[in-house]
Amino acid sequence: MMTHKWVYLFREGNAGLRDLLGGKGAGLAEMTKAGMPVPPGFTISTEACNSYYDSDKHFPAEMWEQTMAALRDVEKDIDKKFGDKVNPLLVSVRSGAKFSMPGMMDTILNLGLNDETVQGVIARTGNERFAYDAYRRFIQMYGNVVLNIKKEKFDEVFDDFKHKTGAQTDADMNTETLKQVVPAFKAIVKHEAGKDFPEAPLEQLSGAIEAVFASWNNDRAIYYRRMNKISDSLGTAVTVQSMVFGNMSDDSGTGVAFTRNPSTGENKLYGEYLANAQGEDVVAGVRTPKPMAEMEHDTKFPGIYTQFNEFAHRLEKHYKDVQDMEFTIEKGRLFMLQTRSGKRTGPAAVKIAIDMLDEGLIDEKTALLRVPPADLDQLLHPTIDPRLTDINKDSYVKPIATGLPASPGAAIGKVVFNAHAAELQGAKGENVILVRKETSPEDLRGMVAAQGILTAFGGMTSHAAVVARGMGKCCVAGVANLKINEAEGYLTLGDTQIKAGEYITLDGSAGLVYAGQLEVVEPELSGDFARLMKLADKYRKLGVRTNADSPHDATIARKFGAEGIGLCRTEHMFFKEHRITAIREMILADTLEDRKNALAKILPYQKEDFVGIFKAMDGYPVTIRTLDPPLHEFLPHEPEQIAIVARDLGVPASKIKSRVDELKEANPMLGFRGCRLGISYPEITEMQARAIFQAAKEVAGQGIKVEPEIMIPLVGDLNELTLQRDIVERVAQEEGVKEAGVSYKVGTMIELPRAALLADKIAQAADFFSFGTNDLTQTTFGLSRDDAGKFLPMYVEQKILKDDPFQVLDREGVGQLVKLGTERGRATRPDLKVGICGEHGGDPSSVEFCHMIGLDYVSCSPFRLPIARLAAAQAALLESEQKKEDNIYANQE
Ligand code: ADP
Ligand code: MG
Ligand code: MG
Repeated sequence: MMTHKWVYLFREGNAGLRDLLGGKGAGLAEMTKAGMPVPPGFTISTEACNSYYDSDKHFPAEMWEQTMAALRDVEKDIDKKFGDKVNPLLVSVRSGAKFSMPGMMDTILNLGLNDETVQGVIARTGNERFAYDAYRRFIQMYGNVVLNIKKEKFDEVFDDFKHKTGAQTDADMNTETLKQVVPAFKAIVKHEAGKDFPEAPLEQLSGAIEAVFASWNNDRAIYYRRMNKISDSLGTAVTVQSMVFGNMSDDSGTGVAFTRNPSTGENKLYGEYLANAQGEDVVAGVRTPKPMAEMEHDTKFPGIYTQFNEFAHRLEKHYKDVQDMEFTIEKGRLFMLQTRSGKRTGPAAVKIAIDMLDEGLIDEKTALLRVPPADLDQLLHPTIDPRLTDINKDSYVKPIATGLPASPGAAIGKVVFNAHAAELQGAKGENVILVRKETSPEDLRGMVAAQGILTAFGGMTSHAAVVARGMGKCCVAGVANLKINEAEGYLTLGDTQIKAGEYITLDGSAGLVYAGQLEVVEPELSGDFARLMKLADKYRKLGVRTNADSPHDATIARKFGAEGIGLCRTEHMFFKEHRITAIREMILADTLEDRKNALAKILPYQKEDFVGIFKAMDGYPVTIRTLDPPLHEFLPHEPEQIAIVARDLGVPASKIKSRVDELKEANPMLGFRGCRLGISYPEITEMQARAIFQAAKEVAGQGIKVEPEIMIPLVGDLNELTLQRDIVERVAQEEGVKEAGVSYKVGTMIELPRAALLADKIAQAADFFSFGTNDLTQTTFGLSRDDAGKFLPMYVEQKILKDDPFQVLDREGVGQLVKLGTERGRATRPDLKVGICGEHGGDPSSVEFCHMIGLDYVSCSPFRLPIARLAAAQAALLESEQKKEDNIYANQE
């Protein structure tokens, strides 16, 4: 009696069993059921793999017996026998997890060959060359995958043979040579593995199955899973399948094709094939494959294109998604070897979803769920003209170096080697690329000034990468062969030398570096992208606002669908020239009167900015935060800078110096900032409120609706908020705001755990809450964002934390405070408007959480808006599908 079913024949499986059979196994079963030509085989389940790991790397009981039984079935099916001298069955042993991980795990072909069975193959096929070609491939693959011998060891010997015989390509190698390769390869095995190559087919089989199980945990696979957030506990299935041979003759071949173009989404069969070749030859680049379109007229493969095209259509219709298929042709007969949903770029995902909706293949909800929100990022940065990156086009430009795609988009600029130069040239309006070995916080201003950043060291979570992504700035990091000679002013990339001041172009989405200036295309919300966004708006319940500090950003944000501003940081306006001088005067003022005089100079600037922002937002609410950062940020620190400022302000340098010293804090993040400033200097809050209200009146006077929301930062106690609110209300009265027909709100940012805990009290004085999740994450974790780079990546690496909490909202901790703060706040004031601002507002998982706990809106940077809109729609759709039984604090897989 069978205790547990570990092994499934293709005809026993189906597409619904992906968890158990992996994508590949399920696909093969489904194609078999659909009557397509699939070489018979069976799949050992992912459960077997997990059981193997759970029981100290032993096959589960009965798995082997079931494997043998399945093998017998296959033998009967195609009338060959595994290990038979006369009529041997050869198989492939293939890996395949629930989520496809292309090329990450291992596959072995031609298994079952040995010195005896190879004779059977020769006798049956009459093709000695083919038999030895298959044999040498098998020894190399087995040696590599099962016995862990480097591929190169075999390649070196193989290349020697090639040279000796004057063969140009593998296909030119004659039978005699291939015959000699086999014992030479076996000698490598003996030498490297310290044992003979296993001749017994069953030993080969069990070794291969174990090796595929083991490949689930190779470095590549682990890294891929981490990058793609695939769980380590799924395990891989193992598919054992009878071989068909694309390397048997000139009317044999192998290929890979997509039902639609995976980089553009164009609805046209897209792929490549190679005659007289096996398996990975197409991908490995030993020979240049031909585009699929040529097969239609290839006289060696009459009718194959039509037949394949028909299968492709059927599969796409069946799965209702783009299929990525692998096939082999053996002596003019087509066999399907794989089908899975095809990976695609962001732009392709959008086009395909909308096209399929129009074709009636999928409904609106499916179309929305088909596009991973984060992939929209690729549509939201200027990008290199796609004609220049398509290797199949004459216009293709070859990159000069490859690194990590640390922050997407394209950047063009002159090479500079330090932050200072970047700032200087940036101030002159020049476009520069900051090239550094690695960046540090001191480089920040230079990074801001640069169009893009290029570094020799550092990974995807390096300072440069993280900061660049935060700024939405293009970055290529970790370019290993980048050498910088800053002293002499040049860099080298391999053989290419580039001097400071010469142009380079970065492609941060692909991690590529180009010499010179390439054409770029600006992102815009149009066509299919715009339609997808409209659709998202139809289904989402969460509002979407933007973080914008200037009329310019506000205008962009409107185009990307912002329904208001969730965070306008007033201090950013202070950095512009004349204003910074006035701010400094204010900070240096000794008396209240001096301070008021300085503030009076700032007021018109602030007002002017608010007028611009209110107009741009055209009736949507605008949340304006009063002054927040520590004052020392506005003062110079270097002696030369201090001297300049002293001259400008007509005060002694020593005075500035001593004020800087006074303001110096051991821990500025927890220091004199937020509402503490406005409480110490009420005249600052007063000036800001006045600027806001005067601007609101002016704009309202022009017949434009305005809805200012004044937000007091870093409140930890109701008394703080009440004090600040009183000032705002007084100014509102003085300015006659209500009389002018302008309604406004006063609320607070919740960014301290204490504020979340006391939200019921704080809500007495707040019309709205906005969770400042950047600071709330810092204060909840007791972790400074600026210093976390030293160890946080390691935390994520070692899975101490699942994600970087500054990127993905920590549902369990910070999220709990957000939920609790919202509930307590609304208990006091049921109509309390609640949103979040901060990086998380543009992160899909965080947006989903905000939807689940019933916030009113999320606010994010303008270029993250489409991501937030789609993520909000998906959250609403998924919620209605599977009413949340699952713990909302668990970040979704
Ligand atoms: P991956 O998951 O890396 O794509 P596969 O298991 O699909 O690995 O195998 C790689 C290639 O090996 C396939 O694309 C196919 O060309 C070839 N292959 C696998 N199994 C067979 C088979 N039974 N007959 C012929 N070729 C096969
Ligand atoms: Mg494959
Ligand atoms: Mg804050």
